[in-house]
Amino acid sequence: MIICRGNSVCGGIAMGKIHLWKKSLPVEATKGRDPEQEWRRFQEACRTAVRELVILEEKAAREVGEADALVFEAHRMMAEDPGFSDAVKEVLQKESVNAEYAAYFAGEQLAEQLESLEDSYWKARAADIRDVAGRVVRILKGEDCQCLPEGPCILLAQDLTPSETIQMEKRSLLGVVTSGGSVHSHTAILARSRNLPALVGVEMELDENWEGLSAAVDGERGLLYLDPDPEVLEELALRKAELSRKEEELAAWFGKKSETKDGRQVRICANISGLDDLDLTVVLDADGIGLFRSEFLYLEASDWPSEEAQFAVYKSAAERMAGKRVIIRTVDIGADKQPDYFSMEPEENPALGCRGIRFSLCHPEIFRTQLRAILRAAAYGKISILYPMITSPEELGQVLAFTTQVKKELDTEHVLTGEVEQGIMIETPSAVLLGDRLAEMVDFFSIGTNDLTQYTLAADRQNSLVQDLVPAGLPAVLRMIQMTARSAANQGIWVGICGDLAADTGLTEDFLRMGIEELSVAPHSVWKLRKRVGEISLDPI
Ligand code: PEP
Ligand code: MG
Repeated sequence: MIICRGNSVCGGIAMGKIHLWKKSLPVEATKGRDPEQEWRRFQEACRTAVRELVILEEKAAREVGEADALVFEAHRMMAEDPGFSDAVKEVLQKESVNAEYAAYFAGEQLAEQLESLEDSYWKARAADIRDVAGRVVRILKGEDCQCLPEGPCILLAQDLTPSETIQMEKRSLLGVVTSGGSVHSHTAILARSRNLPALVGVEMELDENWEGLSAAVDGERGLLYLDPDPEVLEELALRKAELSRKEEELAAWFGKKSETKDGRQVRICANISGLDDLDLTVVLDADGIGLFRSEFLYLEASDWPSEEAQFAVYKSAAERMAGKRVIIRTVDIGADKQPDYFSMEPEENPALGCRGIRFSLCHPEIFRTQLRAILRAAAYGKISILYPMITSPEELGQVLAFTTQVKKELDTEHVLTGEVEQGIMIETPSAVLLGDRLAEMVDFFSIGTNDLTQYTLAADRQNSLVQDLVPAGLPAVLRMIQMTARSAANQGIWVGICGDLAADTGLTEDFLRMGIEELSVAPHSVWKLRKRVGEISLDPI
């Protein structure tokens, strides 16, 4: 048995077989190869790629529908396209390099040509070309297909991007363990929202021989056991049963009011990242959706989601929440959240770059499509719009004017829309400092403590090396929250917290005393928080 220590992202215990998630190694050029032989290797790899894509297409059509399966059909056509194979042949003949490098190089060149086009449709195809070329390279290198095994598994990886995480099938995962990553990353947030036992920053060197080995994740104590001893398994099984019992006890809070002992109503809402989360009883029982991270719709798709596709999702969320407020945050991509089908300009400091509302303002067509979908869905329930990463009244003014214009366009087209409240994420120090002015412009504030912490403490939430700064910096973040609550109260608008700090039951009383009206948390924390709120009395002591 080997024991590795790491940081817990989500409690809970998982036991099962390991699956290793391997990122492909960079492609090296080897000169002096026989072009004829390399060409035959390339052709054979292309045939294998086509066979893989046909299987994937059929699987996707069965499991997620014909529309989503189309991407694999398009990839298959690219693998068979003479434009791609001719480009590879040319590289082989001119450079006498290995087929792996020729396929990679030709794919990159074609992708760059597409990226240089104005049309966003063709730009988006660049990622498809890279995907197809990458598949051929992987086959040439003899690497396995990057799919999850049939049965449930514990996934071990060096690191995972949010888009890799969202694409994993929930039912296949028992737990997730990464050697990199930090507890505040979006990958960690996804694991929490799925209530998956998960560890990040685990001290381990991934070893190929671990594939299929039995393992256990102790999310409570931050431990990974490889090939655990029977006594350890026995102890973990007992604790797992105890945890399930406690979770069942919390379900007693189903349908109860979220109010303090002395009767102050608090809204305890759920953070979601897609419609699947609405299948959880606890989400429907929450007092609303305090944060719908809409970017995950974009990350799990194979192309920019259309207005119709988004409308269907937002409408369904509004209807299923049956009159409770659903706060849809406009797409917050950029930084660590990058869709596979769009290559963003590389940035030196992406967390300080073109993310959140900055991305939306730079891509008005994408923003317009989303706003149209939200405004239309608002006719079917109580929807609010939340704008991420706001830094100034000028920027907010631009955003609100854009939304007004989109609403006018819909009215002119006689398209049915509904009324929406509009709010902003308070997650940059400048939004806190200018809170009095921003509060005059919107209906509510939602404090994003994850980013507010990273930007206040200048501590990258992705970087585990600086995570120790976070506890000591908490008083600074609490002052930021207090200032925001005051700005909101002075202007008579409501304020909530939707960052991870909202789930910290040790702070609940402080938050309520500051005037926070809504706490929005990962689904499985709703009942725990409702219980905590019920223990608090805000009467003057
Ligand atoms: C936050 O920053 O606290 C937040 C809720 O947004 P996200 O974690 O998605 O950046
Ligand atoms: Mg944020």
